[in-house]
Amino acid sequence: MEQLSARLLALSPSATLAMSQKSQELKAQGLDIINLSVGEPDFNTPDHIKEAAKQAVDNNFSFYTPVPGYMSLRQAISDKLKRENGVEFSPAQIVVGNGAKQEICNVILSIVEKGDEVIIPTPAWVSYFEMVKLAEGTNVPFLCGQEQDFKITPAQLESLITDKTKVLLLCSPSNPTGAIYSKEELAALAKVLAKYPRIIVIADEIYEHISYCGQLTSIASFPELKDRVVIINGVSKAYAMTGWRIGFCAAPLWIAKAVTKLQGQYTSGCSSIAQKAAEAAYVGSQECVEVMRQAFERRRDLIFGLVQEIPGFKLTKKPQGAFYVFPEVNTLFGKKTPAGKVIADANDLAMYILEEGHVAGVSGDAFGAPDCIRFSYATSEEKITEAMRRVKECIAALA
Ligand code: PMP
Ligand code: GLU
Repeated sequence: MEQLSARLLALSPSATLAMSQKSQELKAQGLDIINLSVGEPDFNTPDHIKEAAKQAVDNNFSFYTPVPGYMSLRQAISDKLKRENGVEFSPAQIVVGNGAKQEICNVILSIVEKGDEVIIPTPAWVSYFEMVKLAEGTNVPFLCGQEQDFKITPAQLESLITDKTKVLLLCSPSNPTGAIYSKEELAALAKVLAKYPRIIVIADEIYEHISYCGQLTSIASFPELKDRVVIINGVSKAYAMTGWRIGFCAAPLWIAKAVTKLQGQYTSGCSSIAQKAAEAAYVGSQECVEVMRQAFERRRDLIFGLVQEIPGFKLTKKPQGAFYVFPEVNTLFGKKTPAGKVIADANDLAMYILEEGHVAGVSGDAFGAPDCIRFSYATSEEKITEAMRRVKECIAALA
């Protein structure tokens, strides 16, 4: 007899990972699927990083690691934050975990309790909402459409703040929209937040280096928000290291201590070998990051142009960062497939495109934007071109 907890039953599976799993299953059946569902760089991890991991194996980095991560790695992260972001976090304020994903969840579980409200400008990454649910907090999503570049305005933010607001969860560059908050936009949000000293900002900067408009400003750099911004980042996207599972939070000391306590009870410190590789990523040459960024920018330009040619796909502005396009597709709802099935929503559309066009994307539903669909362009230009050709053909067949 199954006896799952209410907590688990309330949780939705990750839509991004579910779609990727489905496309892998279809591939295993011999179908030629182009997987644009999961967001991960298609590049191999750079050689100098792999070398550091090999050395760590040979040098017997095989013992339990400190719960918050090796001091040398936390120092390298502290230096990176100062050098690239102009913010001061001592190694004691940094906790390394099993991907940025674990650290976001650790922070939420450490500070959010039943009834606390978490403001999430949407479209937003699928896992945020589920993490807040796990912590028994209340999601306060606010849909920011294309007409406002998918970004929340200071007035909108202020209108959502109540006595129960605990956290603002901000992701820039954004998954799934690619929107980036400029320095001026962040300053205006910081001005609002300055009036509410209890609110903690979780700033997810995992796509920091995949920017097509220059160096990012971190909201942690505004003095009025001192000691209440948690930066989330990691090596997955910038260094093509999704499988190594290293991310971090840089937080006020009391949050870093809480995260360490939590992590110490349910996962311990993360992989020794992966940590040594991540350290090499942060202290080594940053040339590889720029080479990959340039490739993403070319792909962004390519896919943006191809999306314009698909009738019923609306994407007015080039995404400024990350590696996703998130067109609005709601004018296609109600149309019929050649087999006579009605496309009721973006879930149906994503499934139709997968089954008929053999291209995997993710419905906007799980991102809090049911009128949209997401495609990752972290793949070759040939695959992007072929994928969009297939999508266009599928869409043209709708009546
Ligand atoms: N935040 C966002 C917005 C993401 O898209 C991802 C990608 N999975 C993560 C965090 C987590 O990254 P990772 O756990 O691989 O470091
Ligand atoms: N962040 C990526 C995505 O949105 C990886 C999958 C996941 O962890 O959600 O596709």
